[in-house]
Amino acid sequence: GSELLKGKRGLIMGLANEKSIAWGIAKACADAGADLAFSYQGDALKKRVDPLAAQLGSTLVLPCDVGDEASIDALFESLKETWGQLDFIVHAIGFSDKNELRGRYVDTSRANFTMSMDISVYSFTAVMQRAEKMMTDGGSAVTLTYYGAEQVMPHYNVMGVAKAALEASVRYLAEDLGKKNIRVNAISAGPIKTLAASGIGDFRYILKWNELNSPLRRNVTIEDVGGSALYLLSDLGSAVTGEVHHVDAGYHVVGMKAVDAPDI
Ligand code: NAD
Repeated sequence: GSELLKGKRGLIMGLANEKSIAWGIAKACADAGADLAFSYQGDALKKRVDPLAAQLGSTLVLPCDVGDEASIDALFESLKETWGQLDFIVHAIGFSDKNELRGRYVDTSRANFTMSMDISVYSFTAVMQRAEKMMTDGGSAVTLTYYGAEQVMPHYNVMGVAKAALEASVRYLAEDLGKKNIRVNAISAGPIKTLAASGIGDFRYILKWNELNSPLRRNVTIEDVGGSALYLLSDLGSAVTGEVHHVDAGYHVVGMKAVDAPDI
């Protein structure tokens, strides 16, 4: 690999298994020489995350439920004890009741709206509050978003509204933390079959639609996302902040595909 992140320390949040977007990003960072720490939600995931972390030479695997302030504090206290200082963060976390990731947005409940915003939006801000104090040499943070923030996508519903708020928070965080040379960006990834995505209605149809209609005529992989994250997390992206960077095979630029496109 390159040495783009040699000597840099990064926290990866949201690794569940080898299909996770966090895994694609973690692999790219480790390959570029980074030292990594991982946080996982709940004991059930520890036994999955431990061996994956070990594959990338990391033994720093810590619990964190981002719905709980004390749990976020505990994570950063442990990190501070071990590392002192932090260079980058990957926030690959989102959650909504899957019963509301189908059917109509208008039927969203207040309880699930609030919970989805808390876990999928506020958690990134909560994490950056703690990270700011540890990013004493500047830093870079990346969160994950989706095109459903910008345009209506079937079944995405409350998560689309949450991702729109997440993208707005990226811009506010970029301004607040820019003075400390901490950069904050989002990657808007095309659909990828992960645990979280399997909760979305008609997900196979959404994948096929993107494959047929994106300029590159394919879906994206977690390795594609990893490469773009490496750019944003390393000095290659040194003047990039507040950005929502699409890694979607170009899907977001297409208004309507030509009738005579060869593969319809
Ligand atoms: P995933 O299921 O592998 O990862 C989601 C992670 O969120 C899991 O590790 C889960 O433990 C974590 N999480 C949920 N609630 C949490 C909590 N309270 N505390 C701590 N962690 C919690 O799925 P993924 O697709 O890799 O998702 C990562 C991010 O990418 C999410 O923000 C998702 O919305 C976004 N995204 C996914 C796609 C896609 O098609 N898969 C596309 C664009 C954006």
